[in-house]
Amino acid sequence: MGTIDGLPPLREVLQAHDLVARKQLGQNFILDLNLTARIARAAGDLSACDVLEVGPGPGGLTRGLLIEGARRVLVVEKDPRCLPALEEIAATVPGRLQIVLGDALAVDVRSMLTPPIKVVANLPYNVGTELLIRWLTPAVWPPFWSSLTLMFQREVAERIVAKPRTDHYGRLALLAQWRADARIVMTLPPEAFTPAPKVHSAVVHLTALPEPRYPCDGAVLQRITAMAFNQRRKMLRSSLKALAPGIEGVLESVGIPPTARAEEIGLEAFCALARAVAP
Ligand code: SAM
Repeated sequence: MGTIDGLPPLREVLQAHDLVARKQLGQNFILDLNLTARIARAAGDLSACDVLEVGPGPGGLTRGLLIEGARRVLVVEKDPRCLPALEEIAATVPGRLQIVLGDALAVDVRSMLTPPIKVVANLPYNVGTELLIRWLTPAVWPPFWSSLTLMFQREVAERIVAKPRTDHYGRLALLAQWRADARIVMTLPPEAFTPAPKVHSAVVHLTALPEPRYPCDGAVLQRITAMAFNQRRKMLRSSLKALAPGIEGVLESVGIPPTARAEEIGLEAFCALARAVAP
């Protein structure tokens, strides 16, 4: 049995398995193992955790996670062409790497994981935001994961960590920050990937809070923020008119000026409003 460190460089792996990147699968691979090790380290101590990795591709980040000591890594990959490269890694770490072939939006792998569970992924951009929203909106909280360490286009990363009165502030920031601590831990230029995408990327680290930061019904909060930010330049008394009769009075009762715009209002005030209008 070989060791992970004895595996061939990723560029050779791509050639050996004829893994030409496919755009429709969001395939922008990271071939620098120092970089994948840094991303794995950004997830914190992995030694007592199961790690879920979505979209391992040829396995650069997977190697990093295993080298950094993850107890077990479960990868979900849609492209069957990646399986031989992943199986070569698995053979060097008996029992520690499980490979699932499938669409991460369709397969439910939670029963295959033992808590504590960390999610670490260089996500395909086309499914990244959808997966994040699903992970942030489970039926029960706390969720199955304790932290998410995820690569996004930098603009999406900025939307996740944005604060009020900034350009990127909106629904995604409120959703993420309601139930998690979120920060950008790394930014990467296009050249870090093969092939290079058009945009910069960033890694966001989210830690699940034991309970939401401020109490309120998640569905009501989402409805309010959707209404408020779909017309972000309008005053709230107008964008939220259909929310409740006498919306001006309701806004005032929770300390929100009815003439304020969505981007000026912080999470705590949105949660207070959600409580005020909850059925
Ligand atoms: N983790 C590798 C790396 O860092 O080099 C590859 C990252 S690449 C940006 C995204 C990977 O996700 C590709 O391997 C692609 O085939 C895979 N992928 C795309 N859509 C997927 C889906 N719906 N479910 C699972 N994997 C998917």
